[in-house]
Amino acid sequence: MAQVQLKNVVKKYGALGVVHAINLDIAEGEFVVLVGPSGCGKSTTLRMVAGLEDITDGEILIGDRVVNDLPPRERNLAMVFQNYALYPHMTVRENLGFSLKIAKKSQPEINSAVDEAANILSLTPMLDRKPGALSGGQRQRVAMGRAIVRQPEVFLFDEPLSNLDAKLRTQMRVEIKKLHQRVGSTVIYVTHDQIEAMTLADRIVIMRDGHIIQVGTPLEVFENPVNTFVATFIGSPP
Ligand code: ADP
Ligand code: MG
Repeated sequence: MAQVQLKNVVKKYGALGVVHAINLDIAEGEFVVLVGPSGCGKSTTLRMVAGLEDITDGEILIGDRVVNDLPPRERNLAMVFQNYALYPHMTVRENLGFSLKIAKKSQPEINSAVDEAANILSLTPMLDRKPGALSGGQRQRVAMGRAIVRQPEVFLFDEPLSNLDAKLRTQMRVEIKKLHQRVGSTVIYVTHDQIEAMTLADRIVIMRDGHIIQVGTPLEVFENPVNTFVATFIGSPP
C-alpha cells in the first residue's frame, strides 16, 4: 500500500494556479525526489503534504488517513528545510531534544532518542556545543537529527543542501542516503539539482509549471525522457 498519496491535488493562490491536479503514489520506505526548475511548484507540493499550506482541491493521504484537515503535528512527518533555524542559545543536545520536550516526553526517553540520533549522525562529540561553534555541515546534521528524534513515518526535505558548498553537498548526499538505508523511512525530497536527484532517488518526479511531467527511476528517466524538456533538464544524450 502507498504510504503517501496525492490525488488530483490542486493549489491556487487566488486565480493563479501553481499546482495542477497532480497524482502521485509513494511506497513505504521509498526515496522520492521532486525535481524541476525554480518556481515549478515543488515546495508548494511538499508544504501541502506537510500541512503547512491548505490544498485548494483534491486529497492527500498518509497511510490510510486523509490528512487534508489535519494540522502538521498530527501527520506523523518531519520536515528539514534549507534554512534550518537551530536555537542559537541551546546546546546541540537541547536542540535535538526540544520537540520531544514540547511533546512532554520523559527525560530518559528524550536522552535515549537524542543519543541514538547523535550516534546515527556522528554528532556525539558535539552534543554540548552550541550551533555557533559548529560547521555548516554539522549544523545541517543537527537539523536532520531534530527530524529523526521524532521517528516520523515520513521525512520531507526541501533543498536541505542548497546553502552548503559543493564539497560538503556531495558528502551530505552520501550521508542522507546512508541515513535513509539505516532508518528506512519514506522520504520526499525536493531539489532543483538534477545530480542530487539522480544520486539520491529511488524514483524521480519531474515537475514543470505545476504539472508532473514524468515519474520513473533515475535510469528510466535518463534513458527514456518523455520529451525534450526532460531530456535537456536531466542531460540525457540526444
Ligand atoms: P519551487 O519550490 O519549485 O521553486 P514554489 O512551490 O515555491 O516553487 O512556487 C510555485 C509558484 O507558486 C511560484 O510561481 C511562486 O511564485 C508561487 N507562490 C508560492 N508561494 C506563493 C504565495 N504565498 N502566494 C502567491 N504565489 C506563491
Ligand atoms: Mg522551492
